[in-house]
Amino acid sequence: MPNLTAPEPDSVPESGAVGLSLSGSGGVSPGRVAAGSPRLLVLGGTTEGRALAARVPVISSLAGRTSRPLLPPGEVRIGGFGGVDGLVRYLRAERIDAVVDATHPFAATMSGHAAAATSQAGVPLLVLRRPGWTSQPGDVWHRVPDLPAAAALVPALGERVFLTTGRQSIAAFAALDECWFLSRSVEQPTDPMPRRLEVLLDRGPFTVDAEIALLRQHRIDVLVTKDSGGTTAKLDAARARGLPVVMVNRPPLPAGVPTAATVDEAVSWLAQRG
Ligand code: NAP
Repeated sequence: MPNLTAPEPDSVPESGAVGLSLSGSGGVSPGRVAAGSPRLLVLGGTTEGRALAARVPVISSLAGRTSRPLLPPGEVRIGGFGGVDGLVRYLRAERIDAVVDATHPFAATMSGHAAAATSQAGVPLLVLRRPGWTSQPGDVWHRVPDLPAAAALVPALGERVFLTTGRQSIAAFAALDECWFLSRSVEQPTDPMPRRLEVLLDRGPFTVDAEIALLRQHRIDVLVTKDSGGTTAKLDAARARGLPVVMVNRPPLPAGVPTAATVDEAVSWLAQRG
């Protein structure tokens, strides 16, 4: 499992100066976790995980799903831990003092493993999750519990479908021969895939105007998205075009784990552990 260290910013404090005492409103500078400082693990792969690593010295962990990951500042490790037992071993071997699960709201397996492993190892855990989206006047949203339910609903809403659920979700739509799909993802999807499919390799953020142009260019009838939260350009564009949206609800969070909705809240939680 490779251990990467991203280029460190100019403002890295000298060894020993890094800790969790916050300076002003911005927190301490990021960098390597200094000897003697609390050792904090951030399970990342999200904007929030990168933002947290820019505020506090942490070890960021990425799954290694993308070939060109957006690396957070500071220390980064890449690759799975090997299930709950592997994560327990990692927490003990690396003497981790606290964990922030800042994974994507749909990374439910990792979140479950983090809850089980931190409980076994006696390490405090915080889940950092940006809020989900809420509909506005003019929205035509159909909330569904999961991807199979989304696939079951889509043909009734339109033929030309914009899929923004990520490449790992595309298999759920593979059997829908009656629909044509535009699928947008960071990496090329793999089989099984729908027969009538155009793949758009792209990474956000996107503007509302560009999203409206894309919907118009491909004569899209229906948008499918996970309730990921964050920037709303595709939802604004669908509303502007009067298109229905199939919104896949989030999987439940692990029970009994404290949560934070913002990076500020996570920084405060970590500061209490410094
Ligand atoms: P997942 O299904 O919940 O996790 C599957 C396995 O991948 C985990 O058991 C773990 O392997 C490994 N893993 C996941 N996140 C990891 C992390 N941050 N560090 C180390 N190992 C990790 O995860 P996923 O939905 O495939 O997401 C993978 C990554 O992509 C996450 O970091 C997530 O934040 C990011 N992401 C996901 C989505 C999405 O829609 N799901 C969207 C954007 C970004 P082991 O069991 O071997 O430890």
